[in-house]
Amino acid sequence: MMTQLMETFQKLYGEGGEIRTYFAPGRVNLIGEHTDYNGGHVFPCALTLGTYGLVREREDRVLRFYSVNFERMGVVETSLDDLVPHKEASWTNYPKGVMWAFEKRGYHLDHGMDILIWGNIPNGSGLSSSASLEVLTGIILKDTFGFDQVSMVDVALIGQDSENNFNGCNCGIMDQFASAMGKKDHAIFLDTNTLKYEYAPVILKDAKIVITNSKVKHSLVDSAYNDRRQECETALHELQQAVEIQTLGDLTEEEFEMHKNAIKDPVRQKRAKHAVYENQRTIRAVEALKNNDVELFGKLMNASHKSLREDYEVSCEEIDILVDLAQAMPGVVGSRITGGGFGGCTVSIVKNDTVDEFIDSIGKAYQEKVGHEAEFYVVDIGDGARKLEQ
Ligand code: ADP
Ligand code: MG
Repeated sequence: MMTQLMETFQKLYGEGGEIRTYFAPGRVNLIGEHTDYNGGHVFPCALTLGTYGLVREREDRVLRFYSVNFERMGVVETSLDDLVPHKEASWTNYPKGVMWAFEKRGYHLDHGMDILIWGNIPNGSGLSSSASLEVLTGIILKDTFGFDQVSMVDVALIGQDSENNFNGCNCGIMDQFASAMGKKDHAIFLDTNTLKYEYAPVILKDAKIVITNSKVKHSLVDSAYNDRRQECETALHELQQAVEIQTLGDLTEEEFEMHKNAIKDPVRQKRAKHAVYENQRTIRAVEALKNNDVELFGKLMNASHKSLREDYEVSCEEIDILVDLAQAMPGVVGSRITGGGFGGCTVSIVKNDTVDEFIDSIGKAYQEKVGHEAEFYVVDIGDGARKLEQ
């Protein structure tokens, strides 16, 4: 693949000069959903799927972008003097946003680049192809301009800043953090309030992580996401009248039950309940994994889904079909929606000797019920973003 990308690069941009290559992974969140903007914990891991970048420096201020995945757009040419979002600039707003965020922090980019991108993560499916593109751009800039003082955590924060303030998506820190800081065969137990983190080995013994793509994305995603954030924020303010907390993540289940009536609206109460319980579930799930109790980990994944479906209400019919089918199957340790919701993917832990049957029978049943195919990825947990050896 790299040889082919190199050839495409030279065909598009001409030969000569040094072409460097980089990779940033997508991620899957094992548990801890919609907790990352509520001061709670998350437990994502980087995938071996991700986004590749080939880069050659230029002497002028021109930026040229090309993505093999957006072939139809051809080469998009712009310059370092135009680091503002344009609707028609489409996907290039992501790398440009990261450049903008570096400049904003005083990291001066004094010359342009030719960049070629290729990714093997499905876009818009909740596996964070956008975060991987941001983190990829971050490490390209860090390496190309020698910004050694920029840590990988900074790369994640800069990526989040660009997504929030350049691309207008109010995401938390989880996705960029996982892409930047991932570690092979480990998930990251991250406290999104303090950014303290710990790597936990994911030893599933006789089981694998299987991601199922529903191949639906309901238009509710963005508006509902902002609604949930708003609801949680209001619930937090109400709770703060009754108890001294900074975030919903500060509460245990018992404390929540004791003070929940401070939240006036029953719907808002359910949202906050999810945030509190999901955070505690995540803490417990990591503990279970450390104790080699994969079964308990799976049960907590199932409980996470129930809470996202009933209390947080971010699932949808297609996803529930996939999860119900999975949870009913012997050999499935646990299954839940992953990512923002309203479509996208599920993540399941499936016993090795059940994986083929899982793909076959859930694939068929889903096709029958929904009318289109699901896609399955049996994934490995990979390292975070890095420069590749030539
Ligand atoms: P997700 O992050 O869940 O995959 P998003 O909608 O947040 O979904 O991000 C998808 C967008 O990210 C794409 O529409 C595109 O603009 C950009 N993107 C992701 N991967 C690539 C790629 N390989 N080449 C160009 N743009 C990409
Ligand atoms: Mg995204």
